[in-house]
Amino acid sequence: MLIAGNWKMNKNQKETKEFFKELNKLLKTKNKILLCPSFPCVPVARQAASKNIYIGAQDVFFELKGEFTGEVSVSQLKDFCSFVILGHSDRRHKFSESNQTINKKVRASLKAGFNVILCIGETLEEKTTKKTNQVLEKQLKESLAEISFSSKLFIAYEPVWAIGTGKNATEEDITSAHSFIRQTLKNLFGKKTEQTKILYGGSVKPENSKEILSLKEVGGVLVGGASLDPKKFAAIANYKK
Ligand code: PEP
Repeated sequence: MLIAGNWKMNKNQKETKEFFKELNKLLKTKNKILLCPSFPCVPVARQAASKNIYIGAQDVFFELKGEFTGEVSVSQLKDFCSFVILGHSDRRHKFSESNQTINKKVRASLKAGFNVILCIGETLEEKTTKKTNQVLEKQLKESLAEISFSSKLFIAYEPVWAIGTGKNATEEDITSAHSFIRQTLKNLFGKKTEQTKILYGGSVKPENSKEILSLKEVGGVLVGGASLDPKKFAAIANYKK
């Protein structure tokens, strides 16, 4: 199981240190634990977190260096963290990131040796017009174009309508989407993808995490809001099958 937290644009250095001081004591699990702070707090998170906690970034640019004001490269991140979240719905919908841009980022990140969590998911309109599978297939195919299979690739299914809204996807929604993603990965890369972890994300909290993590095809969760609180995050992370 991979239990990952995405802090989005929250927490400064002081708050990051305080969070890990508490989380380090609360974690009692064999699950893989990952926290993804904003760029300026990635180094301090690496220092403050126990060695068994993975640290990641929430995005990375695909060019290696040069005139790209405001961007961060894989080589700048490499010293501090081993994971990167790519294609999060905030990036897709608030910063107009296309599958083609995300694809360049996935390729650059895998090439640099990062573990990549590729986020995909449909909007409410796409769900109500029954386009979920079509959207997921397009996002997977285009974001993973010209990539060979990597055991460092993770997929996060995050229905956009369930992110930060408190709305929960049903067990059927999750199982159906995860099975479809599994089949699409198999079509793209073959049998090896049976091992690829597919995470669920969207209003995961201690009250619903056990139910979600016990579902077949769920290999972990990507947690937004509840990952900001060490007690809530630990309650999710300490899940035992
Ligand atoms: C997310 O940020 O990826 C997310 C799923 O957020 P939340 O848990 O707050 O819905």
